[in-house]
Amino acid sequence: MLSPRHASAALRAPAARLALTTSPRPSSSSISPISSISSPRFSLITPSIRGHRLLLSLSRQYCSSHGSPAQSPPPKQVADKDRIPPDHRDLAVQQELFTTSIYSPGSPIFLPNGARIFNRLVDFLRKQYVRYGFQEVITPTIYKKALWAKSGHLDNYADDMFTVSSASLKTGEKRVDSAQATDETTAATIEDEYGLKPMNCPGHCLIFAAQRHSYRDLPIRYADFSPLHRDEISGALSGLTRVRRFHQDDGHIFCRPSQVEDEIRSTLDFVRFTYSVLGLGPYRLVLSTRPTDGHLIGSEADWDAAEDALRRALDSSGQAWTINPGDGAFYGPKIDIILQDSDGKEHQTATVQLDFQLPRRFELSYQAPSPELEREGRAGEVEEGSADATEAGPVTPVMIHRAVLGSVERLMALLIEHYNGRWPFWLNPRQAIVLTVNDSDAVVSFAKEVQAVLAGTSTSTLTSTESGPITSSPTLLAAVDVDTSARTLPLKVREAKSKGYGAILVVGPKDVAKGTVAVDLSGIPVKGAEEVTEAPTSGKKRKQPTVEMTPEALLKLLQEKANTYQ
Ligand SMILES: [Zn+2]
Repeated sequence: MLSPRHASAALRAPAARLALTTSPRPSSSSISPISSISSPRFSLITPSIRGHRLLLSLSRQYCSSHGSPAQSPPPKQVADKDRIPPDHRDLAVQQELFTTSIYSPGSPIFLPNGARIFNRLVDFLRKQYVRYGFQEVITPTIYKKALWAKSGHLDNYADDMFTVSSASLKTGEKRVDSAQATDETTAATIEDEYGLKPMNCPGHCLIFAAQRHSYRDLPIRYADFSPLHRDEISGALSGLTRVRRFHQDDGHIFCRPSQVEDEIRSTLDFVRFTYSVLGLGPYRLVLSTRPTDGHLIGSEADWDAAEDALRRALDSSGQAWTINPGDGAFYGPKIDIILQDSDGKEHQTATVQLDFQLPRRFELSYQAPSPELEREGRAGEVEEGSADATEAGPVTPVMIHRAVLGSVERLMALLIEHYNGRWPFWLNPRQAIVLTVNDSDAVVSFAKEVQAVLAGTSTSTLTSTESGPITSSPTLLAAVDVDTSARTLPLKVREAKSKGYGAILVVGPKDVAKGTVAVDLSGIPVKGAEEVTEAPTSGKKRKQPTVEMTPEALLKLLQEKANTYQ
């Protein structure tokens, strides 16, 4: 991995431009890639002291998958060395995905198109959580600073957190000059000050602690899509990659020591499966072992056991992995997933981290027979009820922090650049558009009816009682537009193609009579097939194949694609 100093520079490197608005920029020559550290075009700046400290705390803190730069080999040679890599900020303008405001720097404002992609990613994960045994929880955005003191964030992370004051502080009742502060007044201040959460881990510890657990209940897996806030310096903010507000597909697993290996293996499988569906990769796995600078907690035996469990899980994953000695978090070793994009740049996305510290800080426990053996992960060696079994007692669970996408915003930036306007249908924010050949009443009316059928808003297909709630939607397609303008059809088709619509439907008088539409599906990439390319403008224009079908048949076809993540 990078030395903290270099990595800090990458974290703190100013973006080529601040994406304060989504107004188009005049030139793409100064576009910076997501992973600026891996770009030979990007010069590293001397990190500020704060930046240096931030990176240290990021890399040593919980759930540090957000925005961590990765060590990167030189980008592979692309066929066209003059090719300018796509930039998600430019593509976001073209595709109307998100904007930003000077009133909330670093907090992306998702437009409807961007929200569609975000929600589909989250929806995809929610569906997989059933298979991987995660239960979703909903947790507070602000916690009293006393919680952050307990978790260790106040000591290591306070400068990177936003503080929220309570009314009692504003009245000054408990505020005292720092010079006069005593332990008692400091405690009172802490009691009434809140921190905006940068991570979900302490909240999930509170959930675990709220109930009594038996070894039979474990593993317990909590998932959380809460927004998180980190006080990044304003000069570093950019697009979806350097942000103050973001979401993780965050998850914490509380398990028995003997379950660690299986949980890690399952998480790696989850990552492999997800990235395969998203069409991302290749990626490599890196095991970071115990810090060599002396900043670590836990016994030698703890570390040996944890590192061995990670090694075994990596071996059995069937994937190649490398070791990064000494780069583990102070509370446990970790596995980082380093994703390579189409330009050869590398990005750290998913992470799996073992943690011995937080469960102890929060005094978490579960009841298990033969606690000593249980702690050593040898519970299976003793038959329940046998002479070797001892009285049940409390055992501290192992906590595993894991994120498959990492920062959802950051992964979206990767996907936006990866697909570069050629979205798979299920993620495409512009799935279908209905174009009219003229603006006669009959044609316009039919076009709107077709739109309603595809979008699930047609009264003929909407499942609901007269005035009651909608009980089910016959379609997942939310991104269906209609263009009934009086412009020429070729112009409208060209515009629809340039905007990246998956299905382009044309409606004319003959279609009205027959109740069908002419559909061009060439905007939907076929998985595994050669990339469809536009016919060169200098040559003979290739005629796009169109299919005549009823709106209902088309809906069925498109639903199938959306439901199977094509
Ligand atoms: Zn965590």
